[in-house]
Formats: sequence, C-alpha cells, structure tokens
Amino acid sequence: MSPDSTVAIGLLLPDVLGTYSDTGNATILAQRLRWRGIPAEILTITARDIPPTSCSVYLLGGGEDTAQLFAADWLRRHPELGLAMETSAVTLAVCAGLQILGQSMTDTRGKHYPGLELLDITTAPGRQRSVGEVISTCAIPGVGSLTGFENHRGITTLNPGTAALGRVISGTGNGTSEPGTRHRTEGVLTERIIGTYLHGPVLARNPALADHILHKITGQTLAPLELPDQAALRATYL
Ligand code: GLN
Repeated sequence: MSPDSTVAIGLLLPDVLGTYSDTGNATILAQRLRWRGIPAEILTITARDIPPTSCSVYLLGGGEDTAQLFAADWLRRHPELGLAMETSAVTLAVCAGLQILGQSMTDTRGKHYPGLELLDITTAPGRQRSVGEVISTCAIPGVGSLTGFENHRGITTLNPGTAALGRVISGTGNGTSEPGTRHRTEGVLTERIIGTYLHGPVLARNPALADHILHKITGQTLAPLELPDQAALRATYL
C-alpha cells in the first residue's frame, strides 16, 4: 500500500452470511484505519456482484447451514476471488465463513459438501449446539486473550500442519484438541487466513486482533489508539 492510497476492505456476502453481526468487523477495520489518518473504504459484495480481487482484506461472517452452502457455491463460482484470498489478500472468516473455507462440511444427515479447500480442515455436526461466551489465548504474538460469543453446531478438525488461532480457556471453539494433548483449539491461523468461531463482532471485542490484521495489510506499525472505556469493556469478559 502506498502512503496515500485507500485501503479496500471487501465485505463478502453480508446478504447471505449476516446473521451474527459479523459485518461489524468491516466497520472496525475501517474506523481504526481512519483514526490513524489512513483512508479506508468498505466494498460491500453481495451475491449479485462480481467480486473485486484487489481488496487488501476480505471478511466472511457466520450464517445458517443452508446459507453457508449457498455461500460456498457462490465462492466456487468465483475462483479468481479464491486465488486472491490465497495469494494476495488477508481474510478473516468467522464460524460458517471459516467452515466453508475448509475441505468439507457434513450436515446432520451425514451428507458431505465440498468446501473451498483453502484450509486443511473439515467440519461435521457435534451432538449439541455450542452457545455462549468463549475465552481463548491467541497464538499471534502480542494479541493476548480473545473473547467472543459462539453459536454453532459444527465441530472443526484441523488436519496435521494446520495451526489453530488459539487455545480455548472457556467455551467450545473448534470442539477438538491438539493431537495428543488436552489443549482445546479455537479457530485457524495461516499466513493469509484468520478463522474463528468468535462473534461479537470479534474485532470490536478484540482490538489487538484488528490491529494485527491492519499491520499485515498496511505494512505499517500503527500507533496505539487510546479509546475511552475499551479496556473496561474488555475486562467485563475476561
Ligand atoms: N451453521 C453453522 C453451525 O451451526 C455455522 C453457525 C454460525 O455461523 N454461527 O455450525
């Protein structure tokens, strides 16, 4: 990014995956950039649009089981977007958004559906829905604890070589553990994709994660923001 260029934030399919208010992650990224004097624009990409491939960051949110299968099909019909997510952009994918980027998803009748295969994970339904608050420790240095709200039945298995975004302290997260350990995992972390089960929106509740994404996409060391009540608000969850 050149110093005077506008950062493009691609908000993918809020009309399909907008159930859990994860669209707020776009607002958080844009506003935290603007507060630092960096221009930002949110490109809202609906199911009727041809997605631009030049965004610095793409955001996918959570949604219902049927909606997420539609979203997976839509993404498959736009392979140029998948290529951008794989090679040039950073992507934050939440819950259903995370699940559809994996190898496969299984429904409650045992039927398998293909994912986008950008992540080496698989998701299948657990015995019961996980609904409630989650706290995890984030694997990204300096980010610390993550908090959020989960509401999903999917249990996600990370195949060998795929790193988790963090370890669960309380709540369910992925619903699986690091092999051979009792450390329960939350989310997925690769060079370009951050996946998580945390709603909130997650970037509103975890500004350090928002700034990590912004650092990655701008290449800039961003000055800390002094926001009244932010620390107190976080403290209510930790
Ligand atoms: N439908 C998916 C599940 O229940 C995702 C739910 C969500 O996005 N919160 O696992």
